Amino acid sequence: MSTEPETATLARSTREMHELSVAQNIAEIVEQHLPSIGAGSVALVRVSVGEMANVVPESLAFCFEALIEGTRLGGSHLEIELIPVNCLCRHCRKKFRPNGHAFSCPGCGSGEIEIVSGMELNVVGIEFAGEDGGV
Ligand SMILES: [Zn+2]
Repeated sequence: MSTEPETATLARSTREMHELSVAQNIAEIVEQHLPSIGAGSVALVRVSVGEMANVVPESLAFCFEALIEGTRLGGSHLEIELIPVNCLCRHCRKKFRPNGHAFSCPGCGSGEIEIVSGMELNVVGIEFAGEDGGV
């Protein structure tokens, strides 16, 4: 029965500090979307996170759920969708998924590429408990 969810003790390693700051970010975004009064409690928060954001989903969910304890978001669950990385070749405009760390165009071999998705961090949905049907 520990009663000290301090951010410092939440992060069990420097690795998790990253997930923690991402979780904090998400919590802030959700707070901004909440109506100022009522509307019940938040049951589920859906986020899409790019692969390039380099987060471990379980770790992020763990941090988020620990972070929101005792806040208006307390008890809500985090659903994470990973967005794959997609690149675009500036040379031949080919769209492709990078293979490992080889960030070069499979079509023309150019290294001049643009990352078009996989870096995002978006809150895509918020569900409230006690609204029609619920879970
Ligand atoms: Zn190319």
